[in-house]
Amino acid sequence: MSENGWRFCGNRRSVERLRSAARRRSPRHAFLLTGVPSLGKRALALRFAQALLCEQPIDGDPCFECESCRRVLRGSHPDISIFSLEQQQALAGERGSKATTLTIETARSISAQAPLRPMNGNWRFVIVDDAELLLPDAQEALLKTIEEPPPFLVLLLVSADLEAILPTIRSRCETIELGVVSIPEIEAFLQKTGVDPETAEAAAVFSNGAPGWAIRAANDPLLIEESASIVEQAVTWIESSTFDRVATAFALSDALSKQRAETIAVIEATAGLWRDAMLVRSGNSDRIVFRAHADMIERFAGSCELSELLTALSSVWACLDDIRANVRPRLALEAMVLSWPNTPVRHSAVA
Ligand SMILES: [Zn+2]
Repeated sequence: MSENGWRFCGNRRSVERLRSAARRRSPRHAFLLTGVPSLGKRALALRFAQALLCEQPIDGDPCFECESCRRVLRGSHPDISIFSLEQQQALAGERGSKATTLTIETARSISAQAPLRPMNGNWRFVIVDDAELLLPDAQEALLKTIEEPPPFLVLLLVSADLEAILPTIRSRCETIELGVVSIPEIEAFLQKTGVDPETAEAAAVFSNGAPGWAIRAANDPLLIEESASIVEQAVTWIESSTFDRVATAFALSDALSKQRAETIAVIEATAGLWRDAMLVRSGNSDRIVFRAHADMIERFAGSCELSELLTALSSVWACLDDIRANVRPRLALEAMVLSWPNTPVRHSAVA
């Protein structure tokens, strides 16, 4: 395939499916793009629209240069409408309000837009971001549009949660699932878009496989700093004595109620470190993520059996499951650190 003519990071198989639909110039009327946040679902929906609206497409790829492409990139193409929670709140003049779902009124205005003929091209694209926030009655209101779409309409539902979409809607859509992307692939993508190698590496390392996050982080040093500090905390935690590990576990369990996201990120980072130690232990040092902490990772890999590292990694996942299931966090965290192998003795730097 041509080297990333869609300038999209990762998920090649999904991109290729949309690309071939764009090449045939006969898109289905309804798509459902799903996957966890920050994988680029909405960006991919827009790229699909761009490819079909492009005035001089190259084998299914948009040219990125014609007036139509530029309008899509500027967010001002008249044949693309985007609905989202943010847009709904802006329209209602209630930004900052507690509205956390897409209302039936929004669903009705989506349906009202559907019959409008395209102004420029052959198709009109309606993108519904945050579709998982459409309550069932709002989804029902969309059903007729999906069942009997006008010939020029392409509806793209973008949802972080496939299960939140009614089966009657799902069955009428072509589902495109996006998954996490490998760290080297994200790093290479960022470099290709002109990000300096050091920033590209850091943004990729802390992205958890989410290119959208990495792209934001590449432009926001603060995000990278925050993530680096979280991994530092995880390293210090793992490297401490059993007594200190338990003390940290208790401190984190107290912090959970106030700083939940950050605390969970520290716990998740320990999983990444154990995973890296397993990779080194099994002879895959080149695949580790937290290269900045290779020294600590290699020490654990050198002194622990693979099974011990696996137990440590599993204990982190079990702890995170328990916390999400509202098991008492103090118990869950204590059980976790007691499953970790002891910190290997640090050899003298002179030796
Ligand atoms: Zn173009």
